[in-house]
Amino acid sequence: MVLPHAFADAAARAERLAGRTSLGVGGTPRWLFEPEDEAACVEAVLLCRANDVPLLVLGGGCNLLVEDGAIEAAVIATRRLRGFAIHEDRVEVGAGQGFPDLVRRSIELGIPGLPGCPGIPGSVGGVVAMNAGGRFGCVADGLLAVRGVDRAGERFQRTIEPGDLGYRSSPFRGQLVTGATFRRDPAWTPERGAALFREAMDWKRSSQPLSARSAGCMFKNPGSGASAGQLIETAELKGLRIGAAMVSTQHANFIVNLGGASASDVQALVARVQAGVRRHHGVELELEVETWRAGGA
Ligand SMILES: Cc1cc2nc3c(=O)[nH]c(=O)nc-3n(C[C@H](O)[C@H](O)[C@H](O)COP(=O)(O)OP(=O)(O)OC[C@H]3O[C@@H](n4cnc5c(N)ncnc54)[C@H](O)[C@@H]3O)c2cc1C
Repeated sequence: MVLPHAFADAAARAERLAGRTSLGVGGTPRWLFEPEDEAACVEAVLLCRANDVPLLVLGGGCNLLVEDGAIEAAVIATRRLRGFAIHEDRVEVGAGQGFPDLVRRSIELGIPGLPGCPGIPGSVGGVVAMNAGGRFGCVADGLLAVRGVDRAGERFQRTIEPGDLGYRSSPFRGQLVTGATFRRDPAWTPERGAALFREAMDWKRSSQPLSARSAGCMFKNPGSGASAGQLIETAELKGLRIGAAMVSTQHANFIVNLGGASASDVQALVARVQAGVRRHHGVELELEVETWRAGGA
């Protein structure tokens, strides 16, 4: 395969993704693009497409389990896609902005839903793609429009209609979100936002290990009945450890990296948890976090 010069830059920039994921594990992609604007995003997408190179989009890396070896794909990291423009009725934010910062600012700005999302790490592009959120609010509550670049390298701008985003899902997975517009509610008061933020933060702090290295909830809740965390806890798997990866003693659906864990430690622990829950409850737990495989994407 003969690749253009731009790939040489992207190859030189490639580094272990362990430093860019919240779980702190992950090998090195073949190419790492860090576009600063939408035009550079289009170029990178077209280049990969023309050369048949698989493409992965990296936001804050907070919902990913990246395997240890070489990742045979190009990664587009969005952290340089910055920008924050406040208008009377809306706020426009670059995909690479940190979501926790937007959540804090949403209290004053009056963006519906977002003050209920403290303690959710990641980038704005990532939370839009995932429709991140929880019991106190989610991204879809305040999202007006999304712009980005599709897999064909075409720019798009999409106004959000009710029902476009579902539970932890959006039509933007597999595309490259470059920016999002959130609406401001004129009836909102900072007092109301601050109260919601505090309530959500208190709940988060009391129930989840926020300062540990993790990828958040590891497994999907299996439909009706007990949550994944409850199933793991009642199978007595809390505190189970392989290498430096451990099932959190605070929240059983979190696997934490105690320092120096590898992706294989985490995957071995995932398999032990799945086997334990299968044995105790006859339930098959599925991963909630996305795995990037070594070798192929
Ligand atoms: C301590 C902790 C607590 C958490 N709590 C919650 C919670 O309460 N609720 C919740 O929903 N999640 C939670 N999470 C998970 C995580 O914060 C969310 O999934 C978040 O949306 C990840 O954003 P990211 O930018 O890190 O995405 P990444 O992990 O980088 O990527 C996740 C997925 O989104 C895609 N993606 C990323 N950026 C873009 C983009 N610009 N365009 C298109 N696709 C993109 C990736 O390709 C990948 O498919 C938690 C995680 C941690 C570590």
